[in-house]
Amino acid sequence: MNFRATVLTLYPEMFPGALGLSLAGRALERGDWTLDTVQIREFGLGRHRAVDDTPAGGGAGMVLRADVLAAAIDHATPEGDRRPRLLMSPRGKPLTQAKVRALAAGPGAVIVCGRFEGVDQRVIEARGLEEVSIGDYILSGGEPAALVLLDAVVRLLPGVMGNEASGGEESFENGLLEHPHYTRPPEWEGRAIPEVLMSGNHARIAAWRRAEAERLTAERRPDLLISAQPTQK
Ligand code: SAH
Repeated sequence: MNFRATVLTLYPEMFPGALGLSLAGRALERGDWTLDTVQIREFGLGRHRAVDDTPAGGGAGMVLRADVLAAAIDHATPEGDRRPRLLMSPRGKPLTQAKVRALAAGPGAVIVCGRFEGVDQRVIEARGLEEVSIGDYILSGGEPAALVLLDAVVRLLPGVMGNEASGGEESFENGLLEHPHYTRPPEWEGRAIPEVLMSGNHARIAAWRRAEAERLTAERRPDLLISAQPTQK
């Protein structure tokens, strides 16, 4: 029961891309996860396999057609496919580590990559697409966003990173940004490693790391501290 990713895109050549290398690439070779792509254009209309059309109501750009995209989605998700259907979209819920974890615990994902001005609203509703954003900026297409999402998910799959990702000490895992890291040499360009880290005192080290994580979070991402507060009843 490995994690199965299916990506619907007009640019299947962009996959596996960066996910074919390093940790994700080795995991892909081992079969810890699978990735297939569906070329949306194969479901396009007419001699030119048209996938887009002008926006209803006028305005700039083009919109991905509902009928074309629905045909591609239906082809990719046979009856009984329980995988969540995601649409990469700047209007979506911002991707979080909690969402990444939930996806990694599931059977996989069907990921639709938008292009142009976006996709016809009716296919989002009719096929139950969940819109997911990777941040408050606009990409030219959903493909880099899908790569980002899958990278974050794949590293959490069993066996992909060994113990490294499971410690729960990384940024966001405990609602905090991570503490700073140091390695050899002990002194570099006149800068020493904080003395506590050289002390061998594990309790002191843990307390220092926690305090640094809290300090950094308060300084850079106070919003994380606020959202970590228990909800008021
Ligand atoms: N006109 C749209 C932007 C379209 S960008 C708007 O203003 O909301 C084209 C495609 O890129 C989108 O359909 C989406 O699939 C993808 N995309 C762009 N920015 C993204 C983001 N921040 N997160 C996820 N996908 C994004």
